[in-house]
Amino acid sequence: MKIKKGDTVLVITGKDRNKTGKVIRTLSSENKIVVEGINIVKKHVKPTRGKPQGGIIDITKPIAISKALIICPSCSKAVRIGCKLSEKGKLRICRKCNASVDQELK
Ligand SMILES: [Zn+2]
Repeated sequence: MKIKKGDTVLVITGKDRNKTGKVIRTLSSENKIVVEGINIVKKHVKPTRGKPQGGIIDITKPIAISKALIICPSCSKAVRIGCKLSEKGKLRICRKCNASVDQELK
């Protein structure tokens, strides 16, 4: 899994192309991620006891990981991620500036 919760990503395809957002959830078994503000669909809900009129709610749907690129915190560019082994374990590194994109390891 190259993208993790908390990463900021750029969407590179689809209706939200060129938008950025924070990853709020990853679905590793489906290779999908849920990104804040991205791929929002309106859903009509039936009236319930608490909401007698029903209505329309916004749902953030997952997008495929392949549709997103991580924004490197060091060079602020949308980059592909490489992997490097270090004494701290497996690090995700930016292919452009070689800095680690794992904030928690800094
Ligand atoms: Zn970088």
